[in-house]
Formats: sequence, C-alpha cells, structure tokens
Amino acid sequence: MRHARVIAIDGPAASGKSSTAAAVARALGFAHIDSGSLYRALTWVSVRAGVHDPAVILALAGRLHVDLQSDGDAVRVHIDGINDPESAIRMLEVNAGVSAIAALPTLRDWVNVKLRAASADTSGVVIDGRDIGTAVFPDADLKVFLTATAAARAERRLRQRGHVVDPIELAAETARLAERDRLDTSRAAAPLRQASDAVVLDTTALTFEEQVERIVMLARANGLGNA
Ligand code: C5P
Repeated sequence: MRHARVIAIDGPAASGKSSTAAAVARALGFAHIDSGSLYRALTWVSVRAGVHDPAVILALAGRLHVDLQSDGDAVRVHIDGINDPESAIRMLEVNAGVSAIAALPTLRDWVNVKLRAASADTSGVVIDGRDIGTAVFPDADLKVFLTATAAARAERRLRQRGHVVDPIELAAETARLAERDRLDTSRAAAPLRQASDAVVLDTTALTFEEQVERIVMLARANGLGNA
C-alpha cells in the first residue's frame, strides 16, 4: 500500500517546529500533525488524574477518547469534555512532566499507532516531533532537523507568550528548555536525535518566513506538494 507523502520535521523544544510545520503544510496543501500534542494529552491525563502507571494512563485516555481529529487541514488533539484541549495541554505542569511520560515505551507505541493512522488518512502530511524521521517514519519523503541555540529558542518562547524578555526570565526559560532537551536526548526509547539523512536547518539567524520558505523549497525540489 502506498503511504501518504510524509515530511518529518524534528528538533529540540521550542525550535519553532509546530508553527513552521503548520505553515509548510499550508503552502503545500498538506495536513499538519503535531506529534507532541499526543504526548502532552497523555501527560495532561496523568497530571489531572494523578496517575503514573502507563496502563492506567492509557485506560483513562481510552475512556476520554484522546485522539487526533481532522479539523480542516489541521489534525488536532481531542479529549472528551475539554473545549480547548490545545490550551489545556500547554499548561506548565504538562511542560514539566511531558518528557517523563514520553520516555515510557508503551505510551510511545500508542502515540505512533495514532500518528500512522492519522497520516494514512491524508494524501500528504507534515509531522513535527522528536523521532518522526528516525522512528515513526524512517522512510519519510523529506526529513528536516530544526535547531537553534537554547537562548534563541527561549527568547522566542517568551515573546510568543507575550512576556517582556528580561535577563532573569530568559535564563530561567533557557534552563527549562535545556533540561527538557537533556531528558529527550538521553532517554532509551526513541531519543531526540538527527536522522542521518535529515537536512539540518539552524534557525538562530533566520526569520520565521525564511525558515518556512527554505523547507517549502526543499519539499518542492523533492517533488512534494499538492498546492
Ligand atoms: O513538541 P513539544 O515540545 O510540544 O513536545 C512535548 C514533548 O513530547 C517533548 O519534550 C518530548 O518529550 C515529547 N515528544 C516526543 N516525541 C515526539 C514529540 C514529542 O518524545 N515525536
């Protein structure tokens, strides 16, 4: 069976993967899936219910129908009874706990089944995460690894949240991101790493528009895109 055309965008926390992936998908007429949203939804379940056992987390996620649902061109996470799951899964307790949840192999298997099923429903998809090009879709049509210094990523993250960027807050956010990267790169199961055949894009000195344009150009050069 021919699978959907897949563009994998991996990289460290707050490297702008999701917003970049969404813009690239729009330009190419592809769907966009943010794989981190599923790890975040499982973490939200764990935090809300105060449970840590992966089997219990999955049972609760099943009862709440945690899943990816198509919403126009975007594929978004669904949790029964939660009106704005995208905000819920971005709360600070989820940020702090998500790397530990994402290190559990049973939960990774569950997420990967959902990612492959949602992708199969599309003609082309841009998926962002940590292990898309290495573990989930090792035969992706295009793999991009986005990087930027931790300080540049922290500054963008603070600006996105509408914060004034003072040196103390910047240092604290840089440390939080570096710690999440450390956990994500050092875990045993599908750690964050660059696929050997990925194109590396250091975005420290690029504008958002420039980084989107570079990936769209790469995609078109590889014959990808409906639009
Ligand atoms: O991309 P985002 O920062 O929202 O992802 C949240 C967390 O989910 C990451 O820090 C990582 O622990 C986990 N994750 C992962 N594999 C993916 C996507 C996200 O382990 N493919």
